[in-house]
Amino acid sequence: MFLDKLKSGEPAFSCEFFPPKTDAGWQTLARTLSDLRPLGLDFVSVTCGAGGTVRDLTAGLVDRTVNEFGLPTVGHLTCAGTSVAELRERLRAYRASGVCAVMALRGDPPKGESRFVPHPEGFAHANELVRLVKSEFPELKIGCAAYPDMHPESPDRLTDVRMLRLKQECGADFAVTQLFFRNSDYFGFCELARSEGVTIPIVPGIMPVSSAKQLAKSASLGNSPLPEELQALMAREDDISAEGFEYTLAQCRGLLERGAPGIHFYTLNHSDASARLIAALRESGPGT
Ligand code: FAD
Repeated sequence: MFLDKLKSGEPAFSCEFFPPKTDAGWQTLARTLSDLRPLGLDFVSVTCGAGGTVRDLTAGLVDRTVNEFGLPTVGHLTCAGTSVAELRERLRAYRASGVCAVMALRGDPPKGESRFVPHPEGFAHANELVRLVKSEFPELKIGCAAYPDMHPESPDRLTDVRMLRLKQECGADFAVTQLFFRNSDYFGFCELARSEGVTIPIVPGIMPVSSAKQLAKSASLGNSPLPEELQALMAREDDISAEGFEYTLAQCRGLLERGAPGIHFYTLNHSDASARLIAALRESGPGT
């Protein structure tokens, strides 16, 4: 079970995917999942968006990763635009598919809007969803989100960390972080979290650096400052994949060396970089 691994001192490796919207996207993802299967990942996770169709795609992919590819799967679930009755329905479907855990999230406001408005019969914050899963679906483990660079709506770091503790108090078993590029941000965050009573594993979420364009996009998405080395890579117009790989490998090694419980890769549905990183970390990495 991945939770035991996260607490074992041996690094756990996991990958995140999103449900494709086209046939070509599904074909790419099916290849990716087949490529990754031999790595024996500790889990894969499947993201979800707001809105019915996207959610059905998520449920379909979750079912396939569990039952077709035999991968331990964490299904994401957001409160955005969803009543509690529908959240229960989604949770029942996840349970029927055989997920090992649910990633309980609030979700973002719709594009172009800055304020999250809860569904009239729904939840305002992720901790309420965590509480629902814990009380009504006790067989499911629960993950939640954490933010080394602070959630953009939080007034300060301490408040943000206390909201993580609240999710733990409501039943969260582990946290996965938003992507970040400086390990000092992750370790500073963990230190503050531990001092505030957060005891659950906090798994660093890492986006392998593969191109200048993707780097610029992830930096803006993650609210995460870029170190100088990556700013220089982002300014280049040629292929930076080799340097990007080395940067990410060094970043992951640094994380594991100082005790991170594993690495969760944001794969963007491609296996190549994550598979090579996991192989390299297993071969020579600390504690692996
Ligand atoms: P919350 O924990 O509710 O936090 C949101 C804000 O409210 C924070 O500022 C927090 O400090 C504050 N807060 C929390 N609880 C309370 C409370 N009880 N009272 C007052 N303030 C509170 N989005 C998707 O749409 N689909 C996905 O699949 C998805 N996967 C993700 C996976 C990971 C690992 C991460 C890190 C994020 C993911 N997101 C996803 C993005 C996430 O939905 C957004 O970051 C969202 O804005 C916040 O979600 P949350 O679960 O952290 O919310």
